[in-house]
Amino acid sequence: MIYLDHNATSLVRSSVRDAMHAVEALPLNASSVHKAGRKAKQLLEGARKSLADYLSVFPHEVIFTASATEANNTALRALAPTHPLLVSTVEHPCVLNTGLKLGASVIVVDAKGVVDLAVLDAKLASVGRAALVSVMLVNNETGVIQPIEEVAHIVKKHGGKLHVDAVQAFGKMPIDLGTIQADMLTISAHKIGGPVGVGALILRDDKGFVPLLTGGGQERGLRAGTENIPAIIGLSALIDEISPAAMQAQQQTWHNLREQFIQTIRQYAPEAPVYGAKTAQMPNTIMVGMPGMGSETQLMHFDLADIAVSAGSACSSGKVQPSHVLRAMGVPLDEAAQAIRISMGYNTTFQEVQTCAENWLILYRKAISNGSGAGSGRRLA
Ligand code: PLP
Repeated sequence: MIYLDHNATSLVRSSVRDAMHAVEALPLNASSVHKAGRKAKQLLEGARKSLADYLSVFPHEVIFTASATEANNTALRALAPTHPLLVSTVEHPCVLNTGLKLGASVIVVDAKGVVDLAVLDAKLASVGRAALVSVMLVNNETGVIQPIEEVAHIVKKHGGKLHVDAVQAFGKMPIDLGTIQADMLTISAHKIGGPVGVGALILRDDKGFVPLLTGGGQERGLRAGTENIPAIIGLSALIDEISPAAMQAQQQTWHNLREQFIQTIRQYAPEAPVYGAKTAQMPNTIMVGMPGMGSETQLMHFDLADIAVSAGSACSSGKVQPSHVLRAMGVPLDEAAQAIRISMGYNTTFQEVQTCAENWLILYRKAISNGSGAGSGRRLA
């Protein structure tokens, strides 16, 4: 199978598997006082320190969770009782839907997919008290990178707090909390070759923080529940793979592969829209529209060709819905319903991307011959 859906989840790296394998047979409960428990505690705190050093924070600021969804829910719900919420319209559903349920007001984005800083400024001014703002660093559907330092500057100017969902940024670009000035930041392991079942919320200051999960005193009483130590060890093993130099080299590779894909399809489909390309963007992600063919039909064809890609967000019925991110960027409904997402990972090759582009063109030819609206493309060889 050609797997190009790494923004959904990636394949566990062999180094991560080895690190997890070394501990997975042990009885690891870091709250136990016996020898095995002390070993668990030592592993947990070692992993916490590695992650804290990597993100330039203190170890006590790292709260391990079972997913990024949990970390995001924790962040929003922790401050919702005391802070008005503002979330951007392009957030992942675990932030957007949670925020809306909690009565959040939304911050719109422009046609490039970038949050409107003037709207943020005006909304924060009109709120009149300290708010919690949640803006993601890298969008999971388009790869658009938000100007997070400017967002932080505005939020601080109004005395508010900033939560950053950095799930699609972690391990792909440098994240330094000294620079970003976020009060809370979410990461996850499984988008870059770590295991599913672990995430972390970085919490700079726990004053007024209401835990989502209560029970035992794990994670300094801020997140109850026995820590998943093999997964946490897997997360910390990633750190050796995601040095600044490694990420830079990886980004260059993705950039080249992305250009190759776009050039290949644009030879015959110059009108095919590639979304988010007019601003800073994570090069592993290509959100591309196929004029004349719906995303769901495309996904079926790609699946038959043994190529895994995705579109918008799949609802629980498995039916593909047009991307709320594209809609927020002002893309008309019928056009948004023709977009698919190709997302590359650490092991993606030139040949895989080329095969995907060729299959895209085969489909595009079908769309043209069906006369379903893709009239302006050049003839295919
Ligand atoms: N935030 C972003 C930006 C994501 O891309 C995802 C997963 O796609 C999540 C949060 C939620 O991650 P999980 O489903 O692993 O909890």
